[in-house]
Amino acid sequence: MLISADWVLPIDREPIRNGAVRVHNARIAEVGSLDRFGDLGGVPRFEFPGCAILPGLVNAHTHLSLTALGGLVPPSDFSAWLERIVPLIAGLDEDAMAASATLGALRCLEAGITSVGDVAYGPEALASAADTGVGGVFFWEVLGISASELRRVLQTAEFPLANEAAYGGRTRCGIAPHTAYTCGPDLLRAAAALAREHGHPLAIHVAESPAESRLLRDGSGPLAPVAERLADGFRVPHATPVAYLARLGALDGALAVHCVQLAGGDAATLARHVRGVALCPRSNAYLGNGSPPVEALLREKVALGIGTDSSASNEGIDLFAEARALQTASRSVPASRLVRMMTLEGAAALGIDASFGSLTAGKLADVAVVRVGGTEDPEAAVLAKGGRGTIEAVMSAGLWRVREGRPALSSKPIEAAARRVTEKARAALR
Ligand SMILES: [Zn+2]
Repeated sequence: MLISADWVLPIDREPIRNGAVRVHNARIAEVGSLDRFGDLGGVPRFEFPGCAILPGLVNAHTHLSLTALGGLVPPSDFSAWLERIVPLIAGLDEDAMAASATLGALRCLEAGITSVGDVAYGPEALASAADTGVGGVFFWEVLGISASELRRVLQTAEFPLANEAAYGGRTRCGIAPHTAYTCGPDLLRAAAALAREHGHPLAIHVAESPAESRLLRDGSGPLAPVAERLADGFRVPHATPVAYLARLGALDGALAVHCVQLAGGDAATLARHVRGVALCPRSNAYLGNGSPPVEALLREKVALGIGTDSSASNEGIDLFAEARALQTASRSVPASRLVRMMTLEGAAALGIDASFGSLTAGKLADVAVVRVGGTEDPEAAVLAKGGRGTIEAVMSAGLWRVREGRPALSSKPIEAAARRVTEKARAALR
């Protein structure tokens, strides 16, 4: 099929006015000016006047299995939020996780997102997301165990150690030791070593809250009892979270999530160790953690992706809103760079840029069509106008998932299933 619009933004090269994308066998076959395609015989054509075609967006940090917990715990201080949300997560069984993750994947597609860096608690998130049309990396989370329990716990959670790509090369599995205060030093080392041994991607939440920095600096604050309970063998390192985790080897080749609370030298340390950083500005604001230091990370040439984090700490899944939040906090970052972070740079931070993140021949046929109106600056227009209300169409794996701004298949059954999960969690909250 041939998809055309006023603008095509391939990301790996300059925007193309009156551009088109040819899709064949669920892959991008060709990208260029509409003129050059000529008569393609009976090939189906889809035209989108007043729109820009982008690669499917890359949401670099999600917890899709927690989508149904959205709106239950209001914005609050990070430690207080954590205390309220943890029992709700513990109350989700496999069916609830699957319903919640399917809803999360649908919400992603409605927002133009076709791949994620997801923190998963078992096999449900990957299967639910992939069945719905969302691929990416699914990081099995571990916390609160000793290093010697790691393999057994991953096995119980059905983690595919063999590391085979599935769903037509659309998904990969990774490991996510949760944080420096819920995983002890031996577990952090063991998780990083296991990931390295089997070639799995690695992710970890780093330097998210002032409470985390305080705990690692002098052992005090609200996270001290959490570390006491969950981080087996934890001893106060008297260091920043970045310095501590780097010393343990827990950042090598990893996706470092958040990185808000950075001190002098931390951005350079990240640049030396990580594959990339996932920034989640609206989640950081929701939990009173401040804004990520984008300029410092850019100066050190760290690959940056943008993530929505879980719906339990955000107003909803909208990567454009996240990018605009970064733009507000860091005025010097150009629109073109932010659009790149939402696509190719986010894919690079996750290690999936060979398949996702740009409209390049041979990559997977994932596209987002955004209504931008008449414009001479499509990148600025996409950033200013993009959002849940301006997504015209979304394709993943060569199939239309959203047409005329609505899901191609009815989302009612899954909305109903997720609502039951929400109501059960709400009752538990009281
Ligand atoms: Zn997270």
